[in-house]
Amino acid sequence: MIYLDNSATTKPDPTVLDTFVKVNTSYYFNPNSPHEKGLETSKLLENARTQIKSVLKLDKQDVIFTSGATESNNLLITGMARAKKQFGKTIITSKLEHPSVLETVRALEDEGFNVKYVRFNQDGTLDLSHFESLLNQDVILVSLMHVNNVMGYIFPIEKVYDILQNYPKVHFHVDCVQSFGKVALPIQCMDSFSLSGHKFNGLKGQGLLVFNQLKTITRTVFGGGQEYGFRSGTVNVASNVSLSKAIRLANEHQAVLSGKLYQFKSHLEEAVKVYPGIQVNSKKDGAPHIVNLSFIGVKGEVIVNSFSKRGIMISTTSACSSKRSKLNESLLSLGVSDEAITGSVRISFDQYTKAEDIHQFIEAFKEVYEEMGDLLK
Ligand code: PMP
Repeated sequence: MIYLDNSATTKPDPTVLDTFVKVNTSYYFNPNSPHEKGLETSKLLENARTQIKSVLKLDKQDVIFTSGATESNNLLITGMARAKKQFGKTIITSKLEHPSVLETVRALEDEGFNVKYVRFNQDGTLDLSHFESLLNQDVILVSLMHVNNVMGYIFPIEKVYDILQNYPKVHFHVDCVQSFGKVALPIQCMDSFSLSGHKFNGLKGQGLLVFNQLKTITRTVFGGGQEYGFRSGTVNVASNVSLSKAIRLANEHQAVLSGKLYQFKSHLEEAVKVYPGIQVNSKKDGAPHIVNLSFIGVKGEVIVNSFSKRGIMISTTSACSSKRSKLNESLLSLGVSDEAITGSVRISFDQYTKAEDIHQFIEAFKEVYEEMGDLLK
């Protein structure tokens, strides 16, 4: 099996898994318990938090452990919008965001918030002058992703941050799920950001919300008051300690991994773009681990199945949206044609991807292409 669907999820690093098992075996205690074992467990948890802060070079930020970026995005966006509602009611985001952002802002519209969507230029770059034109005194929150999960585009977080310096009331949240471990994070340019462990060889169900002014957010989860009161529920210490390990490893290897993956990406794109009817949607200056291709005239699902039959796992636009029958909203917002959207597939890499996997993909591609025959336009 050749696994090239790493933007959906990655294989856990065995050492991360090992940490999870060890902590669950020896420190299964509740870190809130007052006895000796509870205190030891609590210390372990706080060490993990401190390690994350040191690895990510966080000084003023707080770190909350969550079940993943979906929860982190929900906690931040809802909590921040409600906290700031006396100052304004407008939220700015983009249509390329993950559903954990888009559905959250949609729900906030029912509470009376206004949502504005920043446009993209035809080449997939964020339209910064449109962004500036959306800003006014009513804007309280901007939520954008660092790397897009469908196309791999990198958003200009630093430039958005610079523009926002004229609007000190605005909180700037960034979804760094697809960038961490592959693209360096612009830590100093974000008021908060979210991560999901399973996208960088950690485990499913472990996430992070990193936040500048924790105290300013309204609580949305109520209970025992864990995680500074913002994420109640008995803390999953084993998960959080193993997450801190995954973060350390991903951070350590990012620069070298990124170089390797850029080579894979350009090799793959060069090999397939010469075929008539194939359109490469990802860009050279996008993230190193995401390639997006369209087979014009054929359905993405058909292509995915054809590769799957040959033992190669790839994806239609994204795992979350591939379950939906409607055309991918994010691609439409870029002005990509209907045909290109219908026929688009995503190939994504991680640290376990080998040069041989890319070679095998290219070999299989020739067969798949031939199999599609007259269907291709
Ligand atoms: N944001 C982006 C950009 C993503 O790709 C994903 C996962 N597909 C999420 C948020 C949500 O992460 P999770 O499913 O781990 O909560």
